[in-house]
Amino acid sequence: MSTARQVPAADFALLSRRVVTPEGERAGAVLVRDERIVGVVDADAVPPGTRVEDLGDAVLLPGFVDSHVHVNEPGRTDWEGFDSATRAAAAGGVTTVVDMPLNSSPVTTTRDALLRKRDAAAGQGRVDCAFWGGLVPGNLAELGRLLDEGACGVKAFLCHSGIDDFPAVGEAELRAALPILAERGKPLLVHAELSTDEAPPEGDPRRYATYLESRPPSWEREAVALLLRLCRELRAPVHVVHLSAAAAVPLVVEARREGLPLTAETCPHYLALAAEEVGDGHTEFKCAPPVRERTNRDALWAALLDGTLDLVVSDHSPCPPLLKQPERGDFMAAWGGIASLQLALPVVWTEAKRRGVGLERLAGWMAEAPARLAGLAGRKGRIAAGYDADLVAFDPDATFEVAASVIEHRHKMTPYLGRRLHGVVRQTWLRGRRVFSAGGFEGSPHGALLSASE
Ligand SMILES: [Zn+2]
Repeated sequence: MSTARQVPAADFALLSRRVVTPEGERAGAVLVRDERIVGVVDADAVPPGTRVEDLGDAVLLPGFVDSHVHVNEPGRTDWEGFDSATRAAAAGGVTTVVDMPLNSSPVTTTRDALLRKRDAAAGQGRVDCAFWGGLVPGNLAELGRLLDEGACGVKAFLCHSGIDDFPAVGEAELRAALPILAERGKPLLVHAELSTDEAPPEGDPRRYATYLESRPPSWEREAVALLLRLCRELRAPVHVVHLSAAAAVPLVVEARREGLPLTAETCPHYLALAAEEVGDGHTEFKCAPPVRERTNRDALWAALLDGTLDLVVSDHSPCPPLLKQPERGDFMAAWGGIASLQLALPVVWTEAKRRGVGLERLAGWMAEAPARLAGLAGRKGRIAAGYDADLVAFDPDATFEVAASVIEHRHKMTPYLGRRLHGVVRQTWLRGRRVFSAGGFEGSPHGALLSASE
């Protein structure tokens, strides 16, 4: 007669004095078998004979999930592609990337385009990839097909997207799309800026203030007010991407108070950068909505800490450096987008550390919550039995300087260049296989193409 086995057999165990679990940080061993975590146990409970790797003081984090990445392949692979993006992700402790429906070409607004994107991604991923579809005028009939094909939800713009083949929608399209999504339990992601003033900004286009004034907080507030109204009326899941204006936060609070399915994310650049620090002509800081003032940054941190904002994701949106107008330094003409996929974890950690915020909060905002948004809860974003063994060994006290030589993005331009950041990713595991260690990649790409769960 055999006794009931308390501790499951494992292929190997990772031992750390600091394992970040949903219940908090603990010392212990993470047991991995067949790509999955099968248990988190005390070090002395590891079954005899199990191969053990002792990570010592390195913190063991869940692999981060970045639900806002513009990979741009196919069609704009010279901007970024699945090879370079997923290398950057693995090096940055991100084990799941959810790709945006633009700026690839074709944009992911039809089933056919999603299949082409999956084909393009196949075999290239150093990490797992999932996909958002897009809502544009006239593609309502495609929404169901996109979801059938595994899209995690759909994204829409309320203002010009920067790409002519991904036009903005109005209230009518949102009203038509939301019931379709609600029935399937999938979110509508919205770029929430609604122009309230058509007058072109005057002033020196090399000055950051000129750009900042051209996209005021009222644009975000107006857009979020519209989304709140629709969410209240239609009870459909709505997600505000890259919220920058703290002035819109009270509307999210209102939604929370009413128990509406409205969620919101913010990004590393809004939490770490400030308008006051952007020099003339430094277009690498340009994104939309813009990086705002320090007081705004503090208010976003407060909204994260009190749970109003749900997640922090990169909005990695790179382009060839020339599109950033580096010679002219013209903020109005430059491409708006910040490259940060690989750097999101150390950028946010550096600022969090300064503010006395712990790593378990980061794991919530940057792993668990984005996984939930993308329909990957139960598989991704937690160190817990049954989850994929996506794991990151992280040295929170080590520092490094962001140099072009360490950046795996296709293009090295980023506002973080030259910054000293806290937190070094030592090793990354994807479904139990180590994919990154000590600055190098291991094995051949085995990233999977994921579908959102039903
Ligand atoms: Zn974006």
